[in-house]
Formats: sequence, structure tokens, C-alpha cells
Amino acid sequence: MRITKLLSVVSAAAVLLSGSVLATAAADYTAPVKDSVQVEKINFNNPDFIRGMDVSSVISLEQAGVTFRNENGEEQDLFKILADNGVNYIRVRVWNNPYDANGNGYGGGNNDLAKAKEIGRRAAENGMKLLVDFHYSDFWADPAKQKAPKQWANLTTAQKVSKVYDYTLNSLKEIKSSGANIGMVQIGNETTSGIAGAYSDADKAKLFRAGADAVRAFDSDVLVALHFTNPEKTATMKWFADYLYNNKVDYDVFATSYYPYWHGSLTNLTDVFNYVADTYGKYTMVAETSYAYTLEDTDGHGNTVSYWNNNTGDNLLWDFSVQGQADEVRAVMNAVNNVHNAKGLGMFYWEGAWITVGDVTGKSGGAYTEQYNKNKALWEQYGCGWASSYSADYDPDDAGLYFGGSAVDNQAFFDAQGKALASLHVFKTVTTGTTGESVLSGDANGSGKVDVNDVTEIQRFLADMTTLTDTRRFAADVTRDGKITVADVTAVQAYLAEYTVQYVINQQY
Ligand code: CA
Repeated sequence: MRITKLLSVVSAAAVLLSGSVLATAAADYTAPVKDSVQVEKINFNNPDFIRGMDVSSVISLEQAGVTFRNENGEEQDLFKILADNGVNYIRVRVWNNPYDANGNGYGGGNNDLAKAKEIGRRAAENGMKLLVDFHYSDFWADPAKQKAPKQWANLTTAQKVSKVYDYTLNSLKEIKSSGANIGMVQIGNETTSGIAGAYSDADKAKLFRAGADAVRAFDSDVLVALHFTNPEKTATMKWFADYLYNNKVDYDVFATSYYPYWHGSLTNLTDVFNYVADTYGKYTMVAETSYAYTLEDTDGHGNTVSYWNNNTGDNLLWDFSVQGQADEVRAVMNAVNNVHNAKGLGMFYWEGAWITVGDVTGKSGGAYTEQYNKNKALWEQYGCGWASSYSADYDPDDAGLYFGGSAVDNQAFFDAQGKALASLHVFKTVTTGTTGESVLSGDANGSGKVDVNDVTEIQRFLADMTTLTDTRRFAADVTRDGKITVADVTAVQAYLAEYTVQYVINQQY
């Protein structure tokens, strides 16, 4: 008998190759996407799991001439590229007044309220929510620095309470007026040591409460987040959760930074979050993480992770490669997703687009110096480096001495020319999983061929005698209706008996 296989559903196969899939409607599985970067699917306990990114520096980069392109090389709005790749939430930092008396920006994106409005608007235009990250400072607030804004420098704590409330409420109204879809607000950034120049436990609690009250007054549906660091100090993190409860701080999300070269294991991170979730019923979140896809620098300013810094350690489990970068993101998401009772809210990747304003790769001697000086002029003019010389006005002992470019250009999801890396796919493919090899339709047991054992495998699955991964279900569903049914058994049997079958069987997808 001559085998005739009618390839009547070839067009459907073509759709599947593109990854857009028929997992519409009520499919029993999610068809994995074929991709060069491999990502294992996560079954998210929280349907709105945040797969977010901080891109606060984007506007100053664009002002300096940087453009972003998708993987096909087409120039597009960064926010469209991110949304198309599965990013569903944008984070933006806000400084009260990051300028000196002459209006020169301190750098780090010069992230004032106007920039938050534009970033919020562009995020919303691409279907993404906004996390507003108030630093309550005029420049970087982190574990080592929590300096009050210049205008608040000489205020009492009671006066600062009033300022934090008014500034938070008024700023949120301003940002919303741009069209931004504000979903969450951080009361301070990495407030491990203090906030807005207040360092006592009692004063900090007053300012946390003032900020939280303002967010509640703005919109009771918006989540209030508090942000700490160093989850590897397990007892300290638990202390913070107890402290917030004992001081009646009204909040929703307990967040931490997680940089794997500093912050312990992911198992420990999940344990810390479980304590917060189990004890206080709060959501938990990674507010910042990142990972290097290369150890090379592209802008002439040394990187946080390089051949000499932060490139070794027990918790650096992934390669410094495009695949490794995706692996880290997936692992952090998984650690948050593992938090009890769906209290793992999500994660934000920090500054995933802070690329160079001019590529120094391959340059040396005079050519390197020339490019470096061009970059330096742009960092000064547009504030697109981590700090400008003008920051000495406010932070003379650190930024004012060590100002310069991007320390994370090797942790971006874009190369030095602004083209998206394949690692960016992880934000989408983590919902489906990927398959590196082609899937053979009908090969339910993954043996690499279609034979009677596949019939048996599908029958066993239908009888609840075995489970199948999404990839194997995709292969078994030869009728392509999104479900594994007896019709698939019949179709494979008919194919093996060399009957004419109207489905695509024994073909690579
Ligand atoms: Ca750099």
C-alpha cells in the first residue's frame, strides 16, 4: 500500500513554528516554543506574576543618541520591544531634584518626575503597568546612602512626615496624569539603613507610614512596597518584617534586591520570603536583580561584574553568556514563585537597557581614548552615566569622585549597538517553555520515532497511568485541537497501519 499523508494542515504547522501557537482557548497544554535560548516553563501560582524591568535610564540614553532595535534589526520603541518579549511591568526611580543650582543633572538618568511621567506613559501605551520607586533623595539611595533631598535637609522628622506624604501623593497624581497605569509604589529604595536622612527605627517607621498613607489616599488598589537588601542576612530580613508589623506600617509587598554575587542562595531567598508570607500574609518580590551576559565592557567605565569583580562565588550558578543571563532570570522567578500560598508576586530586572553610548570594543590607544572622551561628554551632558561630575554638589565623597558611565552595560538585554539579545525571550518563554530540538509529531514518548509505543504512551496518559510534559503533549496531540484524546490514538494507529491520515504525523515541528 502506498502511503499518502495529506498535509492539509501544513499552514497550522507554520504557525506553530513561529511560536504563536494554538494554545488559545482551552488547550490542555502550552506548546513549547522553539528557541535558541532554552528556558524551562514555570507554572506560575500567581496568574499576574510580575515579569518586570527597570529601564529608568532610557530617556537620557535616547537624548544621547542611543536607539534600540528588535532582533530583526528594526528600530523600535524600547517599551514595544520589551512588551513584545513578555515584559509586563516597568519600574522607574524618582529623585526629588537631581540637579545642581545651575540646572546640571547629577546623572544616573537624571530621573526626575518628568522622566517618570514619560516612562509611565510609554509603558502604558505598550500595555505595561508601572512601579514607582521613590528614593526620597536627590540622587542614589542604597544601603550606604539615604540622604534627604536638599530641600528637606534641615527639617524635623515631623516636618519630613508631612513632606513625604504630600510629595508622594502629588507626584503620583502627576505621573498618573500622563496616562501611566500605576500598579505599585515603593516607599524608599533599599531602605536597609534609613530613609530620607532618617536613621532611627522610630523615625523610619513614621516616614514609611506617611508614604503608605499617601499611596492609600491616591488609590486603594495600588500596592505599597517596601524595599530592603541583603537577604543573605536571614535574621536581619526577618527582623525587618517583624519591625514593620510592630510599628504598624501598612504595606502589601515585602521586597528585596537579589544580586547573586552578593545576596546568598535562592533557596535562602525563598525561605526568607516564606517567613514573611507565612507570618504576616504579605506578598514578596525581588525588586532588583541582574546578571552579566558577558564580562566585557563596552563603554570605558568599569562594570560591577567583570573579569576582576564579582565574577566568582558559590551562588553564581550560571554562565556569563546570553543563555546564562536567561537562566538567572528564570531561576529568580522560580525562587519567588516557590513562595507559599501564591505570595510570590514577581521580579524586576534592574536596568536591562543601560547600554553604552559609544562602543569601545576592539579599540585601543588613541582610538580608545577618543571614543571614551566622546562617551564622557555625553554622560556629562545628558546624565546617561551612573553619575556626572555635577553630582559632587550633593554626593562629593562618592559620585563626585568616581562619576562616569554605565557599570551594567554587560547586564543589559541589548548589545552595544542596541539590538535585543535572545535572552530577552525568557520573559515570555518562561510561560511556555522552549524546546531546543524539533518536535516530531506523534512521538509521544520522545524516542525520536513514531511507533506503536507512542500509541501505548497516549493510551496510558488517557488512563491516568502516566504524565506527559507539555512538549510531549504537543507531540501527542496530532489532531491539533489542544487536547489529548482518543482521536489522537486512532490517528497514530491509522498512520502506523499505513492508512491515509488527514493529520501531520511523523513530521518535525
Ligand atoms: Ca561599563
